[in-house]
Amino acid sequence: MGIVENLQKLTKQIPDHVTLVAVSKTKPDEMIMEAYHAGHRDFGENKVQDLAAKQERLPNDIRWHMIGHLQSNKVKYLTSFVHMIHGVDSLKLLKVINREALKNERVIDCLLQVHIAREDTKFGLSGDEVLQMVHSESYGELENIRIRGVMGMASYTENSAQIREEFRQLKRIFEELKATVFSSRKQFDQLSFGMSGDYQLAVEEGSTMVRIGSLIFGSRNY
Ligand SMILES: *Cc1c(COP(=O)(O)O)cnc(C)c1O
Repeated sequence: MGIVENLQKLTKQIPDHVTLVAVSKTKPDEMIMEAYHAGHRDFGENKVQDLAAKQERLPNDIRWHMIGHLQSNKVKYLTSFVHMIHGVDSLKLLKVINREALKNERVIDCLLQVHIAREDTKFGLSGDEVLQMVHSESYGELENIRIRGVMGMASYTENSAQIREEFRQLKRIFEELKATVFSSRKQFDQLSFGMSGDYQLAVEEGSTMVRIGSLIFGSRNY
């Protein structure tokens, strides 16, 4: 099947309030433009260099999501245009994003990456670390970032009960934050979880943003 058919099929399965981020990493501009011409606007990349290069070549109304691990020294290449940064996992990074956003006179939407997988290879903060961070004094001074919610990646496993439990853990952390630290903020409303292999589970468990690559663009050869 082609890219447009894949997108149509997914769009039918995903409720309207869930954003489908088409993960175009490693894929050429022509493929992105196929999706674009079909009306798709949200795309995700995981490498700063690729993201910046694609943004320069492709239409201006694309909403670019940075979904990969972001190093502080590369933030500056994204801050003029990035729509959302999904993988914020330290106060240091958040401060750099804030500084660069200020230079660009922007407020940048960010998600805190929470570690939910049992594997210890994946990035992210623990629930406690998130709380510590948002309660710290310097966090309160950041005016050019807006924390919109949380992001996570489940373990790489066939065990759907385990994946479901990890998603629930993320949702619980989100709900706790929403009820406490972010209780006066309407815009704390995003849960980014679910990929090609587990997006259906993710939607059932309350995801508001699924990040799907291979089901749209085909498998990747690195
Ligand atoms: C690559 C990637 C995805 C998409 O993976 P697929 O399995 O191809 O859907 C989602 N999220 C992140 C963070 C990724 O790096």
